[in-house]
Amino acid sequence: VRFGDFGLASEILKALDDLGYSSPTPIQSQAIPVILEGKDVMGAAQTGTGKTAGYSLPVLQSLLYYANASMSPARHPVRALILVPTRELADQVYEDVRKYAKYTSLRTAVVFGGVDMSGQTGILRAGAEILIATPGRLLDHIQQKNVNLGQTGILVLDEADRMLDMGFLPDLQRIVNLLPKKRQNLLFSATFSSEIRKLANSFLDRPVSVEV
Ligand code: AMP
Repeated sequence: VRFGDFGLASEILKALDDLGYSSPTPIQSQAIPVILEGKDVMGAAQTGTGKTAGYSLPVLQSLLYYANASMSPARHPVRALILVPTRELADQVYEDVRKYAKYTSLRTAVVFGGVDMSGQTGILRAGAEILIATPGRLLDHIQQKNVNLGQTGILVLDEADRMLDMGFLPDLQRIVNLLPKKRQNLLFSATFSSEIRKLANSFLDRPVSVEV
């Protein structure tokens, strides 16, 4: 399998070429076609397997429609929300997504706790189609009306097991309640405990399982 076989746009393929990614990893080969079909996915994958590209490449592909649609340049509602447990992962996913999106006009933003909110506030108010966030800080910004998730049709939960371990379940529930009911959900976790399965049952709609 090659990246070119998935029907990804040339802007995305060019970015992968720049990065020297010659072929998809096993999780990418499994996840990318299913995500492109618009299905919910429950992915079992550790860090290092290429899971970030596995979900971000098809998400970028789905969002290209909004990047190219003629709309007011000032309006960039969040279309995809990527929730992660830690600041470190938020930063890493942000850097990766920016690399994959560099030839598109999609905007990416990241917010996490432990730093001042004001810089993040300006970025959120300017708008970004893709938002990477830790749950607690995202809720702070939602409460301050810095961001609205009314047009967020894609939700990614990355390292969902760690988010549960860190006690983020109530925050996740609050955030999911603010999203449109009709949306695509992608959940990645290194382990599949009964808690993760419960979370998947409540947030996902007939998910396809991918495992490596
Ligand atoms: P991740 O599991 O998402 O943390 O990715 C692990 C590392 O693999 C990251 O440094 C990626 O840049 C890199 N990577 C992801 N996909 C590929 C690929 N298809 N070919 C080569 N490297 C990749």
